[in-house]
Amino acid sequence: MTELFGTNGVRGIANDELTPELVMKLARSLATFLGDGRIAIARDTRVSGEMLKKAAITGTQSTGLDVVDIGEAPSPCLQYYVKENDFDSGIIITASHNPAEYNGVKFVDGDGVEYSHKQLEEMERIYKKEIFQYADWSNPGNHSYDDAIPMYIRAIKQKIDIESILEENPKVVVDPGNGAGCFVTPYLLRQLGCKVVTLNSQPDGLFPAREPEPLPKNIEDLADTVEAVGADLGVAHDGDADRATFVDEKGKPHMGDVSLVLFFKKMLKTKEGNKVVTPVSSGKKASKPVEELGGEVVWTEVGSTTVSRKMIELGDECVCGGEENGGVIFPDFQYCRDGALTAARMIELLSTTEKTLSELANELPQYKHVKTKTKVQDKQRIMKKVFKKIEGMGECTQTIDGAKIFWEDSWILIRPSGTEPVVRVFTEAPSLEEAKELARKGLEIVEETKEE
Ligand code: MG
Repeated sequence: MTELFGTNGVRGIANDELTPELVMKLARSLATFLGDGRIAIARDTRVSGEMLKKAAITGTQSTGLDVVDIGEAPSPCLQYYVKENDFDSGIIITASHNPAEYNGVKFVDGDGVEYSHKQLEEMERIYKKEIFQYADWSNPGNHSYDDAIPMYIRAIKQKIDIESILEENPKVVVDPGNGAGCFVTPYLLRQLGCKVVTLNSQPDGLFPAREPEPLPKNIEDLADTVEAVGADLGVAHDGDADRATFVDEKGKPHMGDVSLVLFFKKMLKTKEGNKVVTPVSSGKKASKPVEELGGEVVWTEVGSTTVSRKMIELGDECVCGGEENGGVIFPDFQYCRDGALTAARMIELLSTTEKTLSELANELPQYKHVKTKTKVQDKQRIMKKVFKKIEGMGECTQTIDGAKIFWEDSWILIRPSGTEPVVRVFTEAPSLEEAKELARKGLEIVEETKEE
């Protein structure tokens, strides 16, 4: 990973860590890296968004590249717009699921997918050496505006079985959490034939109603509303609406692992190809149903970009991919997480089966997860020892990203944090007691290496 760009671009508290000067220089680095061409830009609803977007636009224009501004829009909308309109790159001003004071800058390639490590390293080199391209005074890049949302909504509708949804006319509560999903999902779902009830659906970059991350603990109001209005489903997005998580008809919020595996099953049954892609932090809950259908799980490092890149590599063999946090990638639309499409596909899935979300969730293998962490001085040194220590443990081990030890129905994953001086331990087992026991065991392995 580069020093500047983390797994999801450059993030920080606006006007403190993430200043307009920094954003302008980052945009110049991207534009210098490209040398020529057109860039599209969008932002989420954060209050610092407009200021930082303008800095990025100025940086781009100063290098002589043209920039098209689509205003406030979900990240996947910008990504689709870039891909479909032959842009050379896209800039998204967003801090995704982080709290309101944060913002971030994310760059995507001409195919709408986040750049590879290698490409970002080159941009970082340009940034550090300040070898920026400058346009002649008479010829700065052009700045124009466009509205990308109508084409994005139209394109999603073309991928969905609207007839089935119209027949069912489901009642859906949408909670974009005052983020960029406000501009798309309520309108899209209404056009698909749903009775839409909205919650936190006016854009507000202070995120007054809830934290932007669509975790069960943050979407209790949505859960209550689903129950109160007797809805069939609740949908929640994060700040830039590339993720969607769901509340079932009984008012129970589900983690993203439930919807992910339901999509894996659906796509394996309806599309050609037998592979799905997910990071090593996903578990048996995802892999068991896939294997039962004759499919194969391809594991990757943690991070949606590595999932996207692996899916592109697999091509037609791969039917679906995603993470356990509500980020789902449908390769028949685009190779990035897409919250609005995920919401539409869930409604389609429920309208074409005779079952409710709670029934479908109950049919899945039931596993419990534990996530814990421990502070360490030197992550890399500790991990080297951990890799040695796990050799021969369990039935097999895997070192794609961190150290993973498998037993028939359970596993431990020991992984250094990308951002903090900690090593994380994730476990999965059929019962909470077993998962906790494995977490203790995982921590013990790390603690022992500290003492050596
Ligand atoms: Mg996001």
